[in-house]
Formats: sequence, C-alpha cells, structure tokens
Amino acid sequence: MKNKLTFEMVPEECWYSNLRSILKPKDWDIVRRDAYARAKGRCRICGRPTARLEAHEQWSYDEEKALQKLEDVVALCHGCHEVKHISRTQLIGRGQEAMEHFQKVNECSQMDFHMALAEANETYLRRNRIEGWVTDISWLETRFDIKLR
Ligand SMILES: [Zn+2]
Repeated sequence: MKNKLTFEMVPEECWYSNLRSILKPKDWDIVRRDAYARAKGRCRICGRPTARLEAHEQWSYDEEKALQKLEDVVALCHGCHEVKHISRTQLIGRGQEAMEHFQKVNECSQMDFHMALAEANETYLRRNRIEGWVTDISWLETRFDIKLR
C-alpha cells in the first residue's frame, strides 16, 4: 500500500542544509509564498482547507550518489507537517496526535502506522551511514532565479 502521507527522513548530515538556513530571509519568503499561492488555501497532501499553511521542503535521496536533491516546496497543514517530521514531533510530546492524523489521512490502522515508522527509521539509519551528502538545489535556481548567499 502506498501512503499519501509519509515521513521525511533527513540524514543528520543534511539537517543544516535546510532552505531556511541556506537562503536569505527575503528569498525564503519568496519560496514559501509561492508554495502557499499554489496550494490555494488547502493542504497539498490531505486537501484540508486551512488558513495556516506551512512550507515543507521535499527532498529526494539518491543513496548511491549521496545526493540530496530539492524536488519541491509544498504547503501543508500543521497536522501533515508534524507527521513529516515525526521524530521532532514525538520529542515535543505530540506523537499521539501525529499518529492519529497519519491514520486518518492514509485510512489505515495503528499497526500500519507503526510498520511505516519502523521502515522509515531503517531508511534514516541507512542514510546516516552514508557520508559526504551533496545538496542539489537547482530546482530553486530554475524556478526563482535566486542567488545563494
Ligand atoms: Zn494536511
């Protein structure tokens, strides 16, 4: 079964290559406002209308090449965003809410949640064993003509 809402497993080495720290604040504003405009007031994953969208960076990971590539920045509701960053969400004590949201959006059981999480944790550990990740943010440069600082 393919879940609509999945976990984002960012290898530790890549934690500091998030756009908020790479970009100048005004450039990050351009990127996230573009994501909000495309979403038209709805979460891009669950489709729920929400006044408070959050910008989420979508990366792909090529483990052979140790390449982390930015694929998109999408606007999500708070609930979906919390699931994406499940480890952080569990740390701040909102694991239960995230699990419930995951089950609702994916129409699955608690067991399915735990299985998906175990699989994601394996992916995380495997990616963490890879060294020298390279970050490709050409998506930004082609879409926005943004110069990096
Ligand atoms: Zn959502």
